[in-house]
Amino acid sequence: MVNQNKNEVEKRDLVILGSGPAGLSAALYAARADLDPLVLTGMTLHGQASTTSVIENYPGFPEGVGGVELGQLFQTQAEKFGAEVEMDQATSVDLSKNPYLVETYGKTYETQSLIIATGATPRKLKVPGEKEFVGKGVSYCGTCDGWFFKEKDIVVVGGGDSALEEGIFLTRFANTVTIIHRRDELRAGAILQKRAFANPKIKFMWDMIVTEIKGDDAVTAVELKNVKTGEKIQHETDGVFIFIGHTPNSELFAGQMDLDDQGYIEVNKYMETSVPGVFAAGEICDPHFRQVITSAGMGAAAAIQVTRYLQSLNDQEG
Ligand code: NAP
Repeated sequence: MVNQNKNEVEKRDLVILGSGPAGLSAALYAARADLDPLVLTGMTLHGQASTTSVIENYPGFPEGVGGVELGQLFQTQAEKFGAEVEMDQATSVDLSKNPYLVETYGKTYETQSLIIATGATPRKLKVPGEKEFVGKGVSYCGTCDGWFFKEKDIVVVGGGDSALEEGIFLTRFANTVTIIHRRDELRAGAILQKRAFANPKIKFMWDMIVTEIKGDDAVTAVELKNVKTGEKIQHETDGVFIFIGHTPNSELFAGQMDLDDQGYIEVNKYMETSVPGVFAAGEICDPHFRQVITSAGMGAAAAIQVTRYLQSLNDQEG
């Protein structure tokens, strides 16, 4: 729970948690509605999209746009209209009564409304060796770590859009990229499948799960199990890139609002959560679309609703 005495308390109309496409689009709309929004960036500045090398499906950029560049453009545009972006993170929230309390490492904010855009975090395999070798061959981000695998042989785990997109990206560096999938059919969309199958550096291992990641100072091999035959094999590799979906960053809100059974925040079509004045946008409430454009759209929608909500509070007072 929030400890108001520890920190200086600052009053705000709107606090936005998260600085990905949802949070910064909300900030842009809220700033243009004169709500003086405060964005607490969270640990991943500009969210997961900033770890994508090139975003090719955000309209307005026919040649594609770098993830880092797009995040910075979102921030610059929101700030131009008065949004305040703080490199800080909420450590606890108290939504038991309005004004709501948001505590960070250095401050406590008392806010009339809140937009939660805290996104999601890459899911872990939870096998022996995974934790130990993070940064020593295990990675969840091709853009961040691909460069370290120049002319190496690496594996990618997963069969969705992320696994294929990142796998294709990693062929810029690696000699071979072996995609290990637990089924014999990919989940990824047709275009990415076509590109991956046509890429001479990409190989596939079907019906396999990783049971252990092995190495000494760095990763040297993965132990794999064929889910159909039960056969176990060891596959030598210099790196393991894991893209098996995401977990929503909703721990702070558990028990304070309705979450679904996966931990995603439940919202209605107005981006309202089960707590009045608290809205959510982007991947924290969207296990389905997970696109920069859909997250940005949800952020804009949430900010429009916040504007109406704050107006209704003012009308009641007046
Ligand atoms: P995803 O679609 O949920 O795919 C996760 C993949 O990991 C699936 O193939 C799944 O296998 C596999 N998997 C899950 N848990 C596993 C485990 N414990 N061990 C081994 N494999 C496991 O996740 P995503 O690829 O991150 O994509 C998420 C969303 O973002 C999707 O809606 C996707 O369309 C979107 N996205 C779009 C683009 C794009 O449009 N360019 C790029 C990236 C992501 P099963 O198939 O057997 O379930």
